[in-house]
Amino acid sequence: MLDQMHVTGLKGVGDKQAEKLAKLGLHVVQDLLFHLPHRYQDKTKITPLDQAIIGQEVLIEAQIKNQRLTQGRRPTLLVELEDSTGQSLALRFFHFQPTQVRKFKRGDSVRAFGELRTGLNGLEIVHPHYSVFSFDPPPLDNTLTPVYPTTEGLGQASLVKLIKQAIALLKQYPLAEGLNQAWLQNWQLPPINQALITLHQPQPSDDLGQIQRFEHPAQARLIVEELITQQLALQLMRQQQVQRLAPALAISRTAKTLLASLPFSLTSAQQRVWQEIVNDLKQTQPMQRLVQGDVGSGKTIIAALAALQAADMDYQVAIMAPTEILAEQHRNHFAEWLAPLNIEMAWLNGRLKAAEKREMLAKIASGEAKIAVGTHALFQDSVEFNRLGLVIIDEQHRFGVHQRLTLNQKAQSDQIKNFAPHQLTMTATPIPRTLAMTAYGDLDISVIDELPPGRLPVDTAVLGNQKRQEVMAHLYHACKEGVQAYWVCPLIDESELLDAQAAQTTFDEFNQLWPDMRVGLVHGRLKAAEKELIMQQFKAHQIDLLVATTVIEVGVNVPNASLMIIENAERLGLSQLHQLRGRVGRGAKKSHCVLLYQAPLSATAKARLQIMRQTNDGFVIAEEDLRIRGPGEVLGTRQTGGISLRIADIQRDEAWIEPAQQAAAQMLNQAKLPSKGTTGLVALLQQRWIGEKVEYKHA
Ligand code: ADP
Ligand code: MG
Repeated sequence: MLDQMHVTGLKGVGDKQAEKLAKLGLHVVQDLLFHLPHRYQDKTKITPLDQAIIGQEVLIEAQIKNQRLTQGRRPTLLVELEDSTGQSLALRFFHFQPTQVRKFKRGDSVRAFGELRTGLNGLEIVHPHYSVFSFDPPPLDNTLTPVYPTTEGLGQASLVKLIKQAIALLKQYPLAEGLNQAWLQNWQLPPINQALITLHQPQPSDDLGQIQRFEHPAQARLIVEELITQQLALQLMRQQQVQRLAPALAISRTAKTLLASLPFSLTSAQQRVWQEIVNDLKQTQPMQRLVQGDVGSGKTIIAALAALQAADMDYQVAIMAPTEILAEQHRNHFAEWLAPLNIEMAWLNGRLKAAEKREMLAKIASGEAKIAVGTHALFQDSVEFNRLGLVIIDEQHRFGVHQRLTLNQKAQSDQIKNFAPHQLTMTATPIPRTLAMTAYGDLDISVIDELPPGRLPVDTAVLGNQKRQEVMAHLYHACKEGVQAYWVCPLIDESELLDAQAAQTTFDEFNQLWPDMRVGLVHGRLKAAEKELIMQQFKAHQIDLLVATTVIEVGVNVPNASLMIIENAERLGLSQLHQLRGRVGRGAKKSHCVLLYQAPLSATAKARLQIMRQTNDGFVIAEEDLRIRGPGEVLGTRQTGGISLRIADIQRDEAWIEPAQQAAAQMLNQAKLPSKGTTGLVALLQQRWIGEKVEYKHA
C-alpha cells in the first residue's frame, strides 16, 4: 500500500515538490517513513548557562539587558542577555526585520534555542529559534524534535509536515514485517511499525537520552534491518558470481619448481594463504579472494604462484598494479622468476611506443603471452585476451570497483556462456574484521599475518624541522658507510608538478652539498624509462640516496635500503606514512625512519606521528586511522553493495554487523525453499532500504 502510493498523493505535494523529494530518493510514501532523523533537538529542558557546553545545541532562558545594532560591513543585531546564573550571552542576527528589533524590550525574557558559540565578546547564539515573553513563559516541549537530512529548496518544516502525514497513513495501513519474529524476540526489538513511529515521533515516556545516543531499541531495530539488507545485497552479489563458470585449475608443477628455486621458503602464513588460493582455483566457480598482508609480508610471490597455476593450464593471467613504478617492479620480479620456466610475458603501460604496444597487444591477443603485467592500461579497450583465466589486482584500494569489473569483462568474449575469470586482489591496507565484512562482504579474505623471518621493526623518530641539518649530517655519514636511503618529499599541494619541483629542489640541494654522494631523483613526471633506470640503479646500489615523491609509496622493494627520511610528515595520513615507511625494514639490516615535521602541529597530526613512533603494526595503525578518519574515507571509492547507509553507522553499530550477516545468510537459505515466503521478504527489504538503487543485478 504505502510502498505504492506516490508522494503526490500527500497534501501539499505537487510536481515541483515531488521533484525535490526525488532528489532525496523519496518517491513513495514508504520512502518518507524510511527517511530517518539523523539527529534530535532537545527542547524539553532549559540549560543554565553556567552548565552549557560550547558547540552544543541548547535551550536557554534569559532576561534582555540591552540590544544594539553594530555597524560593520553589514549591520548586525545584537541582543544581550543574562540568565539566572548571572552569565551573559548574546543573540546575534545578521538578517533581521526592523520590527524584530523593537520586539526585544529590556526587562523582557527570551527563550532561545541554537548552537552555543564563543564570539568576540563571550557566549553567543547566531540566528536562534526564539520567543520573547514578559511574564508567562511558553510551555517546554515534552519530547525530542527530530531533524531530517534535507536538500536545497526543501525546508525542514515542510519535510516534517510530510512525514507527519506519512505517519498518520502508517497508522491506517501498517507495513508488513520484514524480519523473522523469533529474531526480534531474541534481540528484544520492537516490530517495524512501532519502531518507525518512535523514531519520527518520540513520546515523553520514551527514554529520550537513549534516543539521542541512537541506543534505543527502536533505533536498533532499524539499524539491524538496514544492515541485514546490506548483507543481503552483498551475499546476492556473491551468489551471482558463484553461479558463473571459471576454469578449474589443477595444482601447478611449475609453481613447485619456482618455490624450489627461491632463496627463501614461504612463511607459514604465506603457505596457508597459498593453499587457500590453490583450493579456490581448483573450483569451477570463480575465486573471489582478497589477500590482506602488511607491507613486506610477501604478497608478490603468492601472486606469482597463483599465476603459474593458470599458466600451466594454458590460461592467461592479467596482473594489474596501480602505479608505473610498481608495475615495473612486478615486471622485473616476474621476468626473473619466469625466464627459467619458459613462460612468455607481456608488458603494458600507458607510455609504450606505438610499435612496442602493438607487439604486446598481439602477444596477448594470440595467447602467446601467458602473463600480462601492467598498469590500468591493461583494461583499455584495445587489449584483448585469448584465454583470460585469472585476474590479479595489486594494492586494490587504489582502484575503483568499475575497473575491477572491466577487467573481468575482458574474459567475456570467451566461447563459454556465463564465463568469469578467477580473481585475486591484494592489499596492504588491513581493515578491521567487521568493517571488512561490510566493505568486502562479497569477497573471501585471506590474511598474511606474519612477516618473513629476521625482519626487525623499523625504529621511528619524530623530529621538528629545526633538526633538519643534524638529520642530513647523520644521513651523509650513514651513506658513506654503505647505507642506502630514501628522502621523501611529500605532496605539497595535490599537484604533481609542484610536488616534482619540491623533490627537484631537494635533489639539487643535496647534489651541490655532497658532490661525492650518488644521489638519484624519482617523481611522477619523469618518463617511464627514466624512472625505471633510476630504480634499477638504486636497486643495484649505484645510487646511495634516492630523493623521491610519494610515487614510491606502494610496493617499491629495495631490501638493502634501511633509512628513510620523510619531510613534512605532518601532511600525510597514517596509512600513507605506514606504506612509505614499509619501503625500509625489508632486509636483515636494522632500519630507521625519521619523520620531520613543520611546527605547529594540529592535534590529529600530533596523534598520527605519535602512533607512527609507537608501532609498526599495520593493524593497529589501520584501526587508529579508522578512528581518526572514519570508514568512508578509509575505504575510499569502494561501495558497499551499492548502498549508502541511512541510519546504521559501521563504527557505532559494529556489534550488529555479525548478527546481521548471519540473519541475511539464513534468509537467503530459506529463500531457496519454494514453500517459504522469504524471497518476498528479501525483495521487500531491498525495496524499503535500497529502493530504485538496486544495481547489483547488473554488476
Ligand atoms: P608486499 O607484501 O609488501 O608486496 P613483497 O612481496 O614485495 O611484499 O615482499 C617483500 C620482500 O620480502 C621481497 O624482497 C620478497 O622477495 C621477500 N620475501 C617474500 N617472502 C619471503 C619469505 N618467506 N622469506 C623471506 N623473504 C621473503
Ligand atoms: Mg606489494
